[in-house]
Amino acid sequence: MPVLVMKFGGTSVANLDRIKRAAKRVGVEVAKGYDVIVIVSAMSGKTNELVGWVNETSPLYDAREYDAIVSSGENVTAGLMALTLQEMDVPARSWQGWQVPVKTTSAHSAARIEEIPTDNIMGKFGEGMKVAVVAGFQGLSPEGRITTLGRGGSDTTAVAFAAAFEAERCDIYTDVDGVYTTDPRITDKARKLDKIAFEEMLELASLGAKVLQTRSVELAMRYKVKLRVLSSFEEQSDTAGTLVCAEEEIMESNVVSGIAYSRDEAKMTLISVADRPGIAAAIFGPLSDAGVNVDMIIQNIAEDGRTDMTFSCPTDQVKRAEKAMEDAKSAGDINYHDLIADTDVAKISAVGIGMRSQSGVAAKMFKTLSDEGVNIKVIATSEIKISVLVDRKYMELAVQALHDAFELEKAV
Ligand code: ASP
Ligand code: MG
Repeated sequence: MPVLVMKFGGTSVANLDRIKRAAKRVGVEVAKGYDVIVIVSAMSGKTNELVGWVNETSPLYDAREYDAIVSSGENVTAGLMALTLQEMDVPARSWQGWQVPVKTTSAHSAARIEEIPTDNIMGKFGEGMKVAVVAGFQGLSPEGRITTLGRGGSDTTAVAFAAAFEAERCDIYTDVDGVYTTDPRITDKARKLDKIAFEEMLELASLGAKVLQTRSVELAMRYKVKLRVLSSFEEQSDTAGTLVCAEEEIMESNVVSGIAYSRDEAKMTLISVADRPGIAAAIFGPLSDAGVNVDMIIQNIAEDGRTDMTFSCPTDQVKRAEKAMEDAKSAGDINYHDLIADTDVAKISAVGIGMRSQSGVAAKMFKTLSDEGVNIKVIATSEIKISVLVDRKYMELAVQALHDAFELEKAV
């Protein structure tokens, strides 16, 4: 029997009625002849509640106990989903991560999946079981402790199972009906994409389009798992939602596929650092050691052997970045006149695999922003992405203008 993986996010299993609704969808696929692996999240809000309890009990908690507690939300939904399916006369049972076992590293609260043996579940399929309901987000460390994969990690569980079981597809049921050209809350011209390439999705996911955990997309790309994002609240056809797939499967697409934004980006400028070999390493080494995720970097023109260095990082890492720079300065590794943090900026990015073969995208983006009177503070580009930092008050305007300029409301 072909295997299908179906993942239901927190809002899709938020209460018993919704679990029933999700179970009915599973029943439809079973009737089509699939053996189904269902991956469930915790009921929406549950994980946050559990995290809250941990913090209240022990602010400097033991990470192993954090995982033991925070993983438990998924156990409840896995059991309830299996029971609901049984009530529908669909042969089903639940598995917690350790029972499969989902073998992970021991990096608690950010563990990586290393291996998923298939014999256990396949054996049960062979005996006539139709649905394996697996608790997402959790695994087992080499030390025999429960681990979790990081927030949003059940997407990664789903893709990892799809890869391990060579599933025909991995369907991610969520509260939106697919991946959009931009956030529909910012412009009602946002259009649902039928298909998007893994690489584009990776850029959009890491840029803050919170539909899929970034790591799940990385995994899907590596193992060529066909990933579909769709709503559990709407009637579905076989072509519903957005298919995240290999570039080769997309015949035609707009040059730009989507406009992403991130509100939580800060611009940091080191004023007057020595312009000498090794200065970038002396700055960005300590930042990386301090766990600061630097995104864009600009080194300005040097004058009299001094230069300004600008970089961007998430707003909540500004304090850490400042401390890392002060420490490096006290240690005599770098010398700068001042460190200026501008936290009133937003990052806007145009993403599209079409940029590989078409030029002029950057020029069009800059012209569009200039026509709107939006000043660009920092620019960074990659093969399929152009990002700019602008004042946060222009964020919506910039996204709308770019969405119009690249005619994203129209499919090709
Ligand atoms: N329940 C976990 C979370 O809220 C994992 C997930 O839903 O993907 O982060
Ligand atoms: Mg999620």
